[in-house]
Amino acid sequence: MGNLYVNVALPVPINKLFTYIVPDDLKSDVAIGKRVIVPFGKQELTGIIVEVSNESAWHKLKEIKDVLDPKPIFSDEMLKLTRWISDYYFSSWGEVLKSALPYGTILEGKRTVKLIREVDQETLSQMGKTAPKKAELLKFLISRKKQTISIKSLKNSLNLKNIYSLLNSLESLGYIEIENRLPEQKAKVKFEKFVSIAESYRENLNKLTAQINKLEKKSPKQVDILLFLLDQLKKGKFEVSLPELLKKTEATAQTAKKLEEKGIIKITLKETIRKFEYEFEEPDKKIVLNEYQKKALAEIKKAIENGKFKTFLLYGVTGSGKTQIYIEAIKEIIKLDKSAIVLVPEISLTPQIVNRFKKNFGDIVGVLHSRMSLGERYDTWRMAREGNYKIIIGPRSAIFAPLERIGLIVVDEEQESSYKQFDNPPRYNARDVAIMRARLNNAVAILGSATPSLESYYNAKIGKYQLLTLPDRVDNAKLPKIEIIDMIKERKENNKTSISSLLSSKIKDRLNKGEGIIIFQNRRGYSTYIECQDCGYVEMCDNCSVTLIFHKAHNHLRCHYCGSVKSVPERCRRCNGIKLKLKGVGTQKVEDEIKTLFPSAKIIRMDLDTTAGKKSYDKIMKKFANAEADILLGTQMVAKGLDFSRVTLVGVISADIPMLIPDFRSSERTFQLLTQVSGRAGRSEKEGEVIIQTFQPQHYIFNYVVNHQILEFYESELKIRKDLNYPPFTRLILIEFKGENEKNVESSADEFSNELKSNLPQGVHLLGPSPAAIPKIKRNYRYHIIIKVPKQIDKNGAELAKIIWQLKEKYETKLNSKGVKLTIDVDPQNTI
Ligand code: ADP
Ligand code: ZN
Repeated sequence: MGNLYVNVALPVPINKLFTYIVPDDLKSDVAIGKRVIVPFGKQELTGIIVEVSNESAWHKLKEIKDVLDPKPIFSDEMLKLTRWISDYYFSSWGEVLKSALPYGTILEGKRTVKLIREVDQETLSQMGKTAPKKAELLKFLISRKKQTISIKSLKNSLNLKNIYSLLNSLESLGYIEIENRLPEQKAKVKFEKFVSIAESYRENLNKLTAQINKLEKKSPKQVDILLFLLDQLKKGKFEVSLPELLKKTEATAQTAKKLEEKGIIKITLKETIRKFEYEFEEPDKKIVLNEYQKKALAEIKKAIENGKFKTFLLYGVTGSGKTQIYIEAIKEIIKLDKSAIVLVPEISLTPQIVNRFKKNFGDIVGVLHSRMSLGERYDTWRMAREGNYKIIIGPRSAIFAPLERIGLIVVDEEQESSYKQFDNPPRYNARDVAIMRARLNNAVAILGSATPSLESYYNAKIGKYQLLTLPDRVDNAKLPKIEIIDMIKERKENNKTSISSLLSSKIKDRLNKGEGIIIFQNRRGYSTYIECQDCGYVEMCDNCSVTLIFHKAHNHLRCHYCGSVKSVPERCRRCNGIKLKLKGVGTQKVEDEIKTLFPSAKIIRMDLDTTAGKKSYDKIMKKFANAEADILLGTQMVAKGLDFSRVTLVGVISADIPMLIPDFRSSERTFQLLTQVSGRAGRSEKEGEVIIQTFQPQHYIFNYVVNHQILEFYESELKIRKDLNYPPFTRLILIEFKGENEKNVESSADEFSNELKSNLPQGVHLLGPSPAAIPKIKRNYRYHIIIKVPKQIDKNGAELAKIIWQLKEKYETKLNSKGVKLTIDVDPQNTI
């Protein structure tokens, strides 16, 4: 046999593959898509094999240490997809592969092994004949009596080389558990005890009855257990989980153990699947598609049958039945024995939507959710990989679900910025990855929205996507009537609260009628800043260039960027004056004001501060749906995805907050947000009303909002974008430099951008470097460069990509030594 080499992608920020030689005893184990352990500098890293070859130009290569997986964990398709993400978003392939696995699956730290099941002699000697190495390993573990042993010490004690493949096989047989010792890496298979009546008794129920009679007097609890199991057996369920059994019979584990010792029942360990359960139930409804829905569905079906890649933009006002279309389209997919991914923004992954899918598709629906535990997420991933789930619903990272034969990918509310990962590499947009994944699978992509992104609208306009429109709300529900309130006038009329007299009277009216009210304020906390009335000094965070927010319940000032907390000052820090005033309105203050105005109204607040618990979000939703509260007050969370027919009034406390963000998308975002939140009103026969309050009533977006002129707004916004050379007419690449020493940050940004400028291809423009709109966050100064790449040049963007990669790698170490961090964000959703 000749030499065998593997190219490995490692989770390090270096844009290359690393070549290793494969030792003889691992040759039969290596395959593309498996994890391997390799030496890297002084450490060991886990990477993914992406190429296997008989030749290498390199000499003196190091050997791989082990192969972790019995089967590849990345399909060919996933390797292509992650490769594309790596190229497009300037992340190393290894980093992308790492993030495509459920958190905790890539092993970098110490691993330990533990025996979790008794092994009898017979099994052992049997194994000794067929798989002597496995048996040797198992014997050793038995001799260690259920201690946790690190794999390292196993390797030292036993002279077994490819120990991982042996351990993998023992784990899959349920004898051992392999665990990662790093605190963050907890994802592993979960086992649970199950109880059943022993076979000999199960097959001879008379014998069981005799036993029961015998035990009757002395051990009533044991009898309870047997009767319960018998009852279950009659219902066709031959085993019950131990916790359930003990709960139902109020017996102890000790009692069950006694029955096991007598050989009447059997207790076995079995893999279980952790699931995130939703409590919320929605009443059933019979649905016949309307004409628009039928037409849209027919187009989608045609594309599905064609089996070629195609992207649709499904544009339909809120409540027009888009989700129903997704469901009907997926029914086609399932008929073809294919699978589907449904992406929804984190914020609208509500029990409502999950229940709708579960009702239609039952157990083949898997949900991924950031509020799930690591274990729950890992199980969902595993079920998808094993083909038990055919439909995966989840936010951003669900785009990496390991499904095979993907026929459809839905991206609901495709304009949502939460589809963009911005805090860690790879800084991908799941919407765009979805389109690429659909393309690789010859699948159909549906981007759905009531307020599409300008980019997608433009792509539909130029024919890149096919536009499907649902212009009407189902059940003939009308679009709500929208009014703009001038808050300057309110102030002049001496209304000191943040609730206009009109909004107040409408609230009163709805409270009397018992109809639901949603109040939206896009800021949490009590006041949004604290200002000295003498000198105008505003209390700022010491670490970040932002104002501190007053939180009434804790009576402190808090920074929403770094979380640092300060006590409320009694005097101005600059002039020592005592006239300090809380200004700006957060949700807590609105809550107080409403309580003052309507003392008997029941109000629930939904923002980051009230939804920290795993189920608190669902609880609030349930309460409001059941009319246990009159008013739902909150931030963005109340603006999106909610579908409560009892809501007939929506109030927007201040439309100014999103409008004032210095980003080229702020008009688009404000427009979308106002349209979205308006869509929460009147989702049934009763007409809805929306009151939007602002200090800039003359702003051009309001006309479009009031008249529901979405496409007109898009056309006008496109003109502005074209004039200013912004997306969708260009692609933006944001390069950020940040560090604690401002001088270093500034000089690094200068040096980098000078070199970049002199290398840029014709037609590509560079803005900056300049301090970011928020110049300091968490003690780090921030400088930005923005590259604008015109669409025509973008087609052969390889040249630019090469230059940027080269510079990034050239500068990275240099900047590191100066304490400056460089990040590249392609298609940034946020430029401030
Ligand atoms: P969207 O996703 O556009 O907001 P949904 O699909 O959620 O719209 O539809 C809104 C509501 O109307 C849901 O409760 C849904 O069950 C219902 N619905 C959808 N299509 C129809 C229809 N053709 N007839 C009656 N009800 C429908
Ligand atoms: Zn701060």
